[in-house]
Amino acid sequence: MKVVETEKELSVYESMAARFDVAAQKLNLDEGLVKYLRTPNREIIVHIPVAMDNGQLEVFDGYRVQHSIARGPCKGGLRYGPTVTLDEIRGLAAEMTWKCAVVNIPFGGAKGGVVCDPDKLSQGELERITRRYTAEILDYIGPDRDVPAPDMNTNEQTMAWIMDTYSMHVRHTVTASVTGKPLDLGGSRGRREATGRGCMIVCDQALKRFGWQRASTRVIVQGFGNVGSQAARLMYEAGYKVIGVADMYGGVFNPQGLDIPKLLDHAKEAKAVKGFLRGEAIGNQEILEQDCDVLLPAAVESVIHSKNASRIKARVLVEGANSPTTPPADDILFERGVFVIPDILANAGGVTVSYFEWVQDRQGYFWPEGMVNERLKHIMVAAFNDVVGYGEKHNVNNRIAAYMLAIDRVAFTLKLRGIYA
Ligand code: NAD
Repeated sequence: MKVVETEKELSVYESMAARFDVAAQKLNLDEGLVKYLRTPNREIIVHIPVAMDNGQLEVFDGYRVQHSIARGPCKGGLRYGPTVTLDEIRGLAAEMTWKCAVVNIPFGGAKGGVVCDPDKLSQGELERITRRYTAEILDYIGPDRDVPAPDMNTNEQTMAWIMDTYSMHVRHTVTASVTGKPLDLGGSRGRREATGRGCMIVCDQALKRFGWQRASTRVIVQGFGNVGSQAARLMYEAGYKVIGVADMYGGVFNPQGLDIPKLLDHAKEAKAVKGFLRGEAIGNQEILEQDCDVLLPAAVESVIHSKNASRIKARVLVEGANSPTTPPADDILFERGVFVIPDILANAGGVTVSYFEWVQDRQGYFWPEGMVNERLKHIMVAAFNDVVGYGEKHNVNNRIAAYMLAIDRVAFTLKLRGIYA
């Protein structure tokens, strides 16, 4: 897999902690509580032996970090990649706690990762890595403990393998052990599109505030995987003008608007957006700085940093990816009046429909897609209004407002429960 360099000003955990500290200070939280909320409950490190196709035994490192169970079972994605680190997983696990609290769903936060290069692995090898990883963390996961979901380089198939491995060990089928599963295995209608749909819903709310129309709103999307491709498709179908799209190999740009269904067909064939002839070729970093109204990063972390933040021309930043903006860039964007819809709000549609999937699995009763989408909209609009309202009330930017709101909710739950110290 080609690894694209991004500007690592602070690690993912350091970025989370920097924002957490600002929010906690503004909330005037007790020092001990700050220490407790900043630290994960549990960090699991596993070394997974896997029989490779060539007959050799290989060992992969895997992590699962469970940040908080204060509001319910842990919830969070599992990512595969050659550059995955414990620090990154630790930061993302904490962000999951805040994300679930922002949308007010009854989960804590977790994240998992396996250090591997999926491009160099066969399906069989990926399956064996996934199953052994699941077996290693089995005592710590489950519908009431910690419920994994897909993230970068994992998908419905990965979730099906986890569900099956978990079920084989506990000797009965437990569909609620993971979310983001195929529909036929207890997945939820609307889950595949949920993160992208959530991004569009909050973007719609920003448009409402600014009195903009979708047809004249120019959108650039970086990342064309699960989040980026669905966001681009839904926004195109809703009437937005999507003028630029990039993935890790490069991008395409057309100020008149891209034909997203045709781009999706092209990307399916070519496995990249590069080479699409109905737009100009453009670099995947360069695309961030093009003139547009809405910028939707939906790829990797730290792509907007102190060196390029002053060149971002978008008025609205919808953070589809986790941690796409570094804390130093936050300050620059804020000073320049960019309306930032922070990751823990903007991309919370995925975990919200994961929550719906978990509820449906536990009830054994499945909802029509319209109901899923309607309930998602209800939650995302409420969360948007909560965050923006909180920011206005406390005179802080949307990111700090989202952190303050989330930390306040988690701290309140802990106050009710008491800390078993
Ligand atoms: P994915 O693996 O399906 O897609 C990632 C996309 O990013 C690919 O198109 C890849 O080519 C592209 N990419 C990688 N590096 C890039 C670069 N430097 N420049 C441009 N493009 C680049 O992953 P995904 O599930 O779509 O997740 C994307 C982001 O959204 C991650 O930060 C993830 O944590 C976050 N997220 C995902 C979900 C979800 O439901 N999948 C939910 C919340 C947040």
